[in-house]
Amino acid sequence: MAASVGPVDSAPAGGLPAPRPGPVPWVAMYHSVGDCSDDPYRITVTPERLGRQLAWLRRRGLRGVSVAELLAARARGAGRDLVGLTFDDGYADFVTAALPLLRRWECTATLFVLPGRLGGDNAWDPLGPRKPLLDADGVRRAAAEGVEIGSHGLTHVDLTEADDLTLKAEVVESRARLAELTGAPVDGFCYPYGTVDARAVAAVREAGYAYACAIDPGPLTGPHALPRVHVGQHDTAWRLYLKHRLHRLRRRPVEGL
Ligand SMILES: [Zn+2]
Repeated sequence: MAASVGPVDSAPAGGLPAPRPGPVPWVAMYHSVGDCSDDPYRITVTPERLGRQLAWLRRRGLRGVSVAELLAARARGAGRDLVGLTFDDGYADFVTAALPLLRRWECTATLFVLPGRLGGDNAWDPLGPRKPLLDADGVRRAAAEGVEIGSHGLTHVDLTEADDLTLKAEVVESRARLAELTGAPVDGFCYPYGTVDARAVAAVREAGYAYACAIDPGPLTGPHALPRVHVGQHDTAWRLYLKHRLHRLRRRPVEGL
């Protein structure tokens, strides 16, 4: 039997060397910034904690930026001093509580919003306090401050359980509505609940997004299923240090990142 030499179609097209896979970039996942006394899903950090976490990043010579900025820097072979900051769901407290801190620590972020729920609340979470979501003006205000606006789908549906029509609407229509709202192209998507499968990844890619954020996508990891690290109220400087180190050890290099 002939020895396996691997598939011939893995040779790079055009004779150019394939880009060397880099380590998966570190992307932090936040949701709400405010009072976290009643927080069953652990999605809230206080402004004090967020401020200390951003200060910790800066002390280590790191800076939090949007995922688009992080990936663009990585594509140039730069960005070793950058980490991605993401805020899911588009809570109203992003503008009042997070934005002033991002400004103060010279960071930016990506905000993943739900154009089907603008001005509404987190009705998809059965437990815990209702938290208001940004309305269209609030999203525009964040965009005007340099925050990248990405799509979190239309209404916070688990895409792995959505039928074909719903999947397409959540992914395609949310992108079109946000592009209209902000007047800018929408490059990023974020899977609601972090749940992702190959079908959802394909739908997101086909809809024209340049990248998508998941949480722990395992073998699906790639530009359209980026892992993220949950950063919460209990993440002091020491725990953040460990999370940062462990991320680099655990995540193997991936093609296309
Ligand atoms: Zn969400």
